[in-house]
Amino acid sequence: MDIQTADLEIKELSKKLNEYGYEYYVLDRPSVPDAEYDRLIQELIKLEETFPELKMPDSPTVRIGGNILDSFDKVEHRTPMLSLGNAFNEADLKDFNRRIRQVVGEDFSYVCELKIDGLAVSLRYENGLFIQGATRGDGTIGEDITANLKTIKSIPLRLSESVSLEVRGEAFMPKRSFEALNKAKEEKGEEPFANPRNAAAGSIRQLDPKIAASRNLDIFLYGIGEIGELGVTSHSEGLDYLDQLGFKTNKERRKCVNIEEVIAFVNSWVEKRPNLSYEIDGIVIKVDSLAQQDELGRTAKSPRWAIAYKFPAQEVVTTLLNIELSVGRTGVITPTAILEPVKVAGTTVQRASLHNEDLIREKDIKIGDRVVVKKAGDIIPEVVNVIASERTGKEMDFQMPTHCPECESELVRLPEEVALRCINPKCPAQIREGLIHFVSRDAMNIEGLGEKVVSQLFAEKLIGDVADIYKLTSEQLLGLERMGEKSVFNLLQAIEASKSTSLEKLLFGLGIRHVGAKAAKTLSQVFVSITNLMAASKDDLLEINEIGEKMADSIVAFFDKKEVLDLIEELKNAGVNMEYKGALPVESDSIFAGKTVVLTGKLEQLSRNEAKERIEALGGNVAGSVSKKTDLVIAGSEAGSKLTKAEQLGIEVWDEEKLLIELNK
Ligand code: NAD
Repeated sequence: MDIQTADLEIKELSKKLNEYGYEYYVLDRPSVPDAEYDRLIQELIKLEETFPELKMPDSPTVRIGGNILDSFDKVEHRTPMLSLGNAFNEADLKDFNRRIRQVVGEDFSYVCELKIDGLAVSLRYENGLFIQGATRGDGTIGEDITANLKTIKSIPLRLSESVSLEVRGEAFMPKRSFEALNKAKEEKGEEPFANPRNAAAGSIRQLDPKIAASRNLDIFLYGIGEIGELGVTSHSEGLDYLDQLGFKTNKERRKCVNIEEVIAFVNSWVEKRPNLSYEIDGIVIKVDSLAQQDELGRTAKSPRWAIAYKFPAQEVVTTLLNIELSVGRTGVITPTAILEPVKVAGTTVQRASLHNEDLIREKDIKIGDRVVVKKAGDIIPEVVNVIASERTGKEMDFQMPTHCPECESELVRLPEEVALRCINPKCPAQIREGLIHFVSRDAMNIEGLGEKVVSQLFAEKLIGDVADIYKLTSEQLLGLERMGEKSVFNLLQAIEASKSTSLEKLLFGLGIRHVGAKAAKTLSQVFVSITNLMAASKDDLLEINEIGEKMADSIVAFFDKKEVLDLIEELKNAGVNMEYKGALPVESDSIFAGKTVVLTGKLEQLSRNEAKERIEALGGNVAGSVSKKTDLVIAGSEAGSKLTKAEQLGIEVWDEEKLLIELNK
């Protein structure tokens, strides 16, 4: 790149970053995810390293935070409140370690702490009394938010010793408070906060302390501004001292003697992170000895003795290249976003379901848009929103088709449904998807019959319905692409083995509308054979606790069809088992027997799974949501909407203690 182009790029990037910084730090309302901001900052750092002569003194790479609001009094920090350098992977952490060793040698240790996703604040105490609190502001001057900080109950107004000191920490909003706040905002028609960090910042930078008080903020303290005469020689001693004074520090900190231990700590938190009741966005790693911290010093923006490891981003920005349509087993037409491949939460994402036309309209998604994509943990990727400010005018509106993309019959929108459906029962896409479902793991589980092979067999007209699977011959299979003798042999064996599968898998595999794996199991336990089930009336079905009107109607209608009866006959003749082979529900005289129980909130003594297993072992049935059919709700701490609903419906509610007493009887 030549210097002119670099100059232009640097100016453009700085402008964009300053805008994003303003939205984030001043307005507490970011328009892009942090990962996008971090990506642009890294780009700018690289350009400034290559062309140091172009680096501006007020570049976003050297500035801390944003401007401060005039509405607050200003507070000058006696020692600057710095930002932190970032590490995004193991290599960055090792580089950091190398830099430390170059300065202090081999003999040092680290302290790792959770990086709380809130906003940095400073608290000043004189003779043990809290006298002033401030935001980080631009690092040198912050905003006086004393009145608001006094509303945070975990901030001691008087310390256990009569000392004078300045402490620093992160004010944050617990996840539950954030969810409740956003729910209330949405109900009032107000715009919700983007994340708990911005909600915390927006709450603490309120002029009215009553609002801050209503927001349930909390704080963890993680440092002392000026250590002075406190007699502390390391960061970890400093944290212990803060505990002693009555401050709330985060207990999930760990001393590590080398970078390998640091990396293991970091990795362990990638998994444990969702279990916390507050958001963290990484791990902060600090050299423990204060003398070594001094030796390492700082840059204009951050200390050289600390670094923030950022977890893989859960929200990133990418381009929506196209919208593709697929026809599901039940005829539902699902639009899918085809994305420019992008790493989210550690995996590459290139497709995200857009669910239905309403969602596309609601989010105003156009082909070619820059979009925010989110994937938290194992959750399926989703398009969160469009970044409308990045539109160039070349984006294109998307129209849902009027006809099925596979069979061309006219699509319909059934009453009370958002989805468009192809209702042609002969639609090849639906038949193919139904076959794929039949052989899938939770149904007949035929190994070797994956999506591709089924599609091939279907395209070659070797299978037209599920009974045809049992008529396949080795000659037919050998004719398929990439099918050798061995795989054909294995496949035929797997097909044969599937004949003895228990009834609930077959029922689920048949794809009766509204009958999921759980309902299929209950039906099998109650009726034991398909013949009994086929003879059941709607009333018989409604007797079962978990079966509602919709499902009962659907089951009766399914077994009313001649082609279904023929198909079952064919499967029977092929030797497919039609009986339930699993364990029957426990016959017990326990209080849980035959009861539908819902677990909600946080249990302290038992894990959710343990509680579920123990209730089921006593003949209870654990359901996911509260309805009129629920007999009992177990509410742990912090129980939310399910508890409210149970109370509204007058359902019996127990706490964990009562549950344990009954389980142990
Ligand atoms: P930073 O968040 O990367 O790290 C420094 C901060 O970490 C400290 O000031 C402190 O508040 C916090 N912290 C939390 N736990 C800590 C602990 N245990 N010890 C020490 N510090 C701890 O840096 P920053 O300068 O505050 O902000 C940069 C961040 O803000 C980046 O993540 C960036 O993506 C985000 N940002 C986003 C936008 C946007 O538009 N989305 C704009 C600007 C900045």
